[in-house]
Amino acid sequence: MDNKDNKIKQGFILAFGELFLKSEGVQKILKKRLDNNLSSLLKKQKIDFRIYPWRERIFVQTKNFKKTSSVLKNVFGLVWFAQTFFLEEASFEEMNNFIKENYQDWIKKDESFALRVKKGPLNKKRTEQVIKEIAENIERSVDLGNPKKEIFIEGRKQGWFIYFKKQKGAGGLPNGSQGKVLALISGGIDSPVAAYLIAKRGAENIWLHFHSFPLVSKASIEKTKELAKVFLNYQPKLKLYLIPFSEIQKEIKLKIPAKYRVIFYRRLMLEIAQSIAQKENYQALVTGESLGQVSSQTLPNFQITQENIRIPIFQPLIGMDKEEIIQLAEQIKTFDISIKPQEDCCTLFVPKHQTAAAKLEIIKELEKELSLNRLIIRVLEEIEIIEYN
Ligand code: ATP
Ligand code: MG
Repeated sequence: MDNKDNKIKQGFILAFGELFLKSEGVQKILKKRLDNNLSSLLKKQKIDFRIYPWRERIFVQTKNFKKTSSVLKNVFGLVWFAQTFFLEEASFEEMNNFIKENYQDWIKKDESFALRVKKGPLNKKRTEQVIKEIAENIERSVDLGNPKKEIFIEGRKQGWFIYFKKQKGAGGLPNGSQGKVLALISGGIDSPVAAYLIAKRGAENIWLHFHSFPLVSKASIEKTKELAKVFLNYQPKLKLYLIPFSEIQKEIKLKIPAKYRVIFYRRLMLEIAQSIAQKENYQALVTGESLGQVSSQTLPNFQITQENIRIPIFQPLIGMDKEEIIQLAEQIKTFDISIKPQEDCCTLFVPKHQTAAAKLEIIKELEKELSLNRLIIRVLEEIEIIEYN
């Protein structure tokens, strides 16, 4: 490539997804968020870059293609992106010449090609004419149906883009554009996937993990911290609450019959989470249940565990099978951490058989035995907070 001409820039062209369905004003806010996320995720990888944030596209100027593309594939709000040449303020003739001089590097002698042209508003010629004039200079065989190489040519107010291969983006909406949610993370497989799906729809995650240290080792805490670091691939920053749960568990174990204990653990986790959410203005809770997966994840038990919760609880995995959840966990790189052994705070104190259909009256009666308020206040005083960025 001829780099003498400084009109020719290299980098990535980025396309938005659903942003286009929004009104002008909302689009502006979402785009600003996307630009900021992009910028901090790229900076974190120490990539040299410059962002051109236009209305219809973003251009990221960089020479660090490999690292940049591995960041871009995780950025919510992009439907696709492509490594591109950007011919800034170039005329059609200049662009056509550039292709004429370089196509031999892009398409081998025996390879077929197709031009995919979006000529943009500034070029008055008809698209067919544009295609014809570019194709004339390319001495390779045309195959529109099944070409070996595609050349995408996109004309914009700012200049011409030439690229070859679109990569799938992460989709969703820019993270942080849809408020904040508090995700309950156990260290297991499901909850980080649930958190990911909500983050993908644009809500900034705050994480909360209940641990049973010193009754058990710190394994679940360490796993949650590791998961948090992986999550920084998708979200520029992450706040993590670590909450000691062992005092509450001891009290429950002492006073509640075995088959109801899990229900009490869940009920209390949600109530404590809710009180933090209300205090900090996090607008919903996120958990990782899938309907019927285990005995605590049945409809009667959801009713009981959620009885005192006044803010929305999102359970994005509710309709997914374990297989599907695992597949996603692998894809987002949390699976290998999640399957490391841990003494789950709940399995530790839980017999094999839990009721799948508890009765609210019984639960309320039993609850009177617990000195919950005192315990919850104590727990809230002992919270540890870690900020990742
Ligand atoms: P996971 O794979 O996320 O552990 P699970 O299928 O094992 O989920 P449960 O153990 O029934 O499900 O827990 C249901 C949900 O409750 C979890 O997905 C998580 O959101 C929350 N949860 C469970 N244990 C904890 C914990 N120790 N700290 C925070 N949240 C928890
Ligand atoms: Mg679990």
